[in-house]
Amino acid sequence: MYPDKFEYFAPEDIESLEKLLDKFQDDAKILAGGQSLIPLLKLRFTSIPNIIDIANIKELNFIDGSDGLKIGPMVRTAEVARNRLIKQKCNLLSDAASKIADPQVRNMGTIGGDVCEADPRNDMPAVMLALNAEFEITGSSGIRTVKATDFFKDAYTTDVRPNEILTKIIIGDYSKYYGKYFKFTTLSSDFPVFAIAVNMSVGNDKTINDLGIGLTNLNTTAVKAVDVEEFLKGKKPDDNTLESAFKKLESYIDIEDDVNGTKDHKMEILNEMFKNGIKEVYGVLNDGKH
Ligand SMILES: Cc1cc2nc3c(=O)[nH]c(=O)nc-3n(C[C@H](O)[C@H](O)[C@H](O)COP(=O)(O)OP(=O)(O)OC[C@H]3O[C@@H](n4cnc5c(N)ncnc54)[C@H](O)[C@@H]3O)c2cc1C
Repeated sequence: MYPDKFEYFAPEDIESLEKLLDKFQDDAKILAGGQSLIPLLKLRFTSIPNIIDIANIKELNFIDGSDGLKIGPMVRTAEVARNRLIKQKCNLLSDAASKIADPQVRNMGTIGGDVCEADPRNDMPAVMLALNAEFEITGSSGIRTVKATDFFKDAYTTDVRPNEILTKIIIGDYSKYYGKYFKFTTLSSDFPVFAIAVNMSVGNDKTINDLGIGLTNLNTTAVKAVDVEEFLKGKKPDDNTLESAFKKLESYIDIEDDVNGTKDHKMEILNEMFKNGIKEVYGVLNDGKH
């Protein structure tokens, strides 16, 4: 199917973009990689009179490792997966990006689009929560910075207002951490049934020093399992500790039976995935192989 008619704009700087957003407000939508928006338009699930393509705005396409790690929203998912600086400073992010969809989608889709789409099945929101990322949001009234925990409001809803744009993703330096994205899918190149993002550091006493846990598609939006993070800090992840941690994790989950399986079946798989995942990440850190 063809989309409804729309006007197409391709500004080359943020100032011109802001003017367009101010002019059109709710009657415009930003186009990044188009991997979520274009299918919606073509299926006529949505119709928007003005599309603003941000691919030509060079200021939105950067990877800056000078102080922690900062990434522009127009960086393509494939670049996030293969970039050496990102691998070195935050291996969780490259691991998760490499597990998104297939090469075609990764070559077009962007990190900013994945975050802003806020589909509960999208992989980046949980990763951002595990990493305690912050988002720089820009509009004609100024720039504001929002924590990941305040950014994801609900399914397909973020804190970005109609006349604003995500301009920067701010991530710390996690080079002393090890992280992994555990993704359970029915098709290897598809959205997850559910997933867990784990980012961990271990202290000299071999207990968990710092921990970030984000959950994908286990609630109406990605969630950060703060109680589980706090509970596991200062501990070694033995079987009893992980059993107690999983009980805490359950309070963050709100799922039903669906085409992918019953709730009970999914919880069984999640239980195994969570415990094995924490043990695996902890094991890698203790072997010093990261
Ligand atoms: C077959 C297929 C499989 C997929 N599998 C997965 C998967 O396994 N995991 C996964 O995470 N995703 C998956 N996706 C989604 C894919 O990762 C998309 O690329 C992503 O959701 C959106 O990124 P985009 O750059 O294409 O954004 P677009 O589609 O261009 O935009 C998405 C939304 O974000 C808004 N937006 C984009 N950039 C900004 C910005 N800078 N500021 C404000 N708003 C902005 C747009 O207005 C739009 O509402 C899949 C998509 C397809 C087609």
